[in-house]
Amino acid sequence: MIRANDIIDKVADYYPAADFDIIRKAYAYSAYAHRNQVRLSGEPYMVHPIEVANILAEMKMDVASIAAGLLHDTLEDDPMTSIEDLSLRFGDEITSLVEGLTKISKIKFKSSREHQAENFRKMILAMVKDIRVLIIKLADRVHNMRTLDFQRPDRQTAIARETLDIYAPLANRLGISWMKQELEDNSLRYLEPAIFKELEEKVARKELESREFIERIIKIIHRNLDHYGIEGQVSGRLKHIYSIYRKMVRRNIAFEQIYDIIAFRILVDSKAECYNVLGMIHALWHPVPSRFKDFISMPKANMYQSLHTTVIGPEGRHIEFQIRTHEMHQVAEMGIAAHWHYKEGYQLDDHDRKQMDWLRQMIEWQQEVSSPGEFLDTVKIDLFSEAVYVFTPAGEVKELPNGSTPVDLAYAIHTSIGDHCTGARVDGRLVPLRYQLKNGEMVEILTSKRQHPNKDWLTFVKTSKARTKIRQWVKREEERRSIELGREMFEKAFVRNKLSFNRALKEGRLQEAAEAFSLKSVDALLSALGRGKLSPRQVLNRIFPELKKGGRKKGKKSEEKVEKKPARDGISIKNIDDVLVRFAKCCNPLPGDDVVGFVTRGRGLTVHRRSCRHVQQGNSERYVDVEWNLDRAGVHHVKIRVMCEDIKGMLVALGTAISSQDANITKGTLNTSIDRKAVCFFEIEVKDLEHLKKVKQALRAVKGVYQVTRIS
Ligand code: MN
Repeated sequence: MIRANDIIDKVADYYPAADFDIIRKAYAYSAYAHRNQVRLSGEPYMVHPIEVANILAEMKMDVASIAAGLLHDTLEDDPMTSIEDLSLRFGDEITSLVEGLTKISKIKFKSSREHQAENFRKMILAMVKDIRVLIIKLADRVHNMRTLDFQRPDRQTAIARETLDIYAPLANRLGISWMKQELEDNSLRYLEPAIFKELEEKVARKELESREFIERIIKIIHRNLDHYGIEGQVSGRLKHIYSIYRKMVRRNIAFEQIYDIIAFRILVDSKAECYNVLGMIHALWHPVPSRFKDFISMPKANMYQSLHTTVIGPEGRHIEFQIRTHEMHQVAEMGIAAHWHYKEGYQLDDHDRKQMDWLRQMIEWQQEVSSPGEFLDTVKIDLFSEAVYVFTPAGEVKELPNGSTPVDLAYAIHTSIGDHCTGARVDGRLVPLRYQLKNGEMVEILTSKRQHPNKDWLTFVKTSKARTKIRQWVKREEERRSIELGREMFEKAFVRNKLSFNRALKEGRLQEAAEAFSLKSVDALLSALGRGKLSPRQVLNRIFPELKKGGRKKGKKSEEKVEKKPARDGISIKNIDDVLVRFAKCCNPLPGDDVVGFVTRGRGLTVHRRSCRHVQQGNSERYVDVEWNLDRAGVHHVKIRVMCEDIKGMLVALGTAISSQDANITKGTLNTSIDRKAVCFFEIEVKDLEHLKKVKQALRAVKGVYQVTRIS
């Protein structure tokens, strides 16, 4: 078992000035927190965090990462460990790393579908505020995969699947190629044990067979490097098993048919030498034209740089060469982790500083580069994601725009779930519909058959799907209510004329009437009535032409005058939008007034002030709850009376006062009396009660005015 000192020795090698105390403290703390836990292998649990820290030390990571590696499971496994406790002992940097790791470990990956895997990777990246969290997580996974033998077989395949789908691609994205390769090979070992075993043997045999060949090639290269005065490191090896396997599957070929199974790597000091060596290789052997790749001038998305070429070598065997500088090689192996390398001797020259600033550099490069390129789609975009990733109870990951709510998720799952969504449980706790979802949350949508979309939802939903569906529902609902209202009005008109609605319906007369008005159906006719596009009288006259003469008298018997022009703006009636609304002339209600609505024969809905005498009297009409919709307020007429002195220019002064408040005058009269007093009546257009108040104030401010009253 590795001890604290082994790790400290390793760190001391690359960073002699490191704070070893913090590593010792983290070691002791973790050992205590896990003291009662045992791994499936039977070893003390502590072996695991130590191995993880050891991997990080081998990667030359910083002290904070190594300490976090030691502590990575404490928060989750030990009930006595808290965030406060950790930050008191180890500071905020280490604590936030441990916190980040705990968050990721709580996500349970379930679906192995391809796009789900991609969403899951994005979710992890979106959750990671510090890339070190991801590197530690990968080290954790590397060790778990090394010790997977002790798991139950079903867990083995599940973990291997997850590793192959999620973690190996993440290692690749961060450019840590050794991790990617090890994770891939170990996953395949458990997912396809028979194939893996066979390939492992074949590769071992091939390696043995090729040993002499490899040495021969290396000798030739060295001789030529010497000739050109280039110092270089040459190595040859077989490709890793998973990449061979993938090639076989993709091209549907046998192991024996893969030519470029051996890859040589030449490491030199400078970029110029890379190209010199390339020329040298191409002079020695014939290159395969389509196989040359220059990743030096065109680095890969994960910053990988190298020259690749395949040549037809001795015995007609294909050999692949990778040519790069030592620096590029370090990046190729360590990827983004190279950023946290401590340098021997701890002296930062320009070259080292460049290395240390690697991450920042990458991000800056991206901002300079005009074409967005692949990189933006990978690390940067993902780290500063515009999206939020949440789980459904079935374990599916859903990607939604930032700021999305349970309603957005409900519609993303299914329209009917959205339409009946009453609330949500996020990680087991109830939240309101307007709650903004966060990364990694498990969201359960609650529904009820009695629930329906609400116009209010439009104020907080983020996705266009939710928006469209809510609007559709509201529209359908308005249609339904219009039909209902139209039918009610129409039936009353029938009763008034001593006719039977049902008989007319049965005899197809309503259908005929609908057609006469170029409407598709009876419902369309009733809706047109409800919306005030047609009046019941118009339709009745069409069905029963004989009514035309006598009908007038009866229809006249209405108790108040109403504005002729439909003015539907400014008022809303529950879910109805497009119903014919009139404002009663008797009381001229203004937005802000306390109002009620009445279904009036043949006139749709009439809005009165609650204080209106017609309301007070009460009658057989139907009472409807209405509300002012101030966003959509239109213009309303109101009458005012102004008592004032009869002075020259008074009418002009009053007119100016009204106009100064942006109110329009539609009518105005001035009556004078003998005692030099005057009474003026104005009919003006205002937006609402507030607006009227301002007009009244302006009028009162006119010299000579002593009373301003709103009148019915
Ligand atoms: Mn772990």
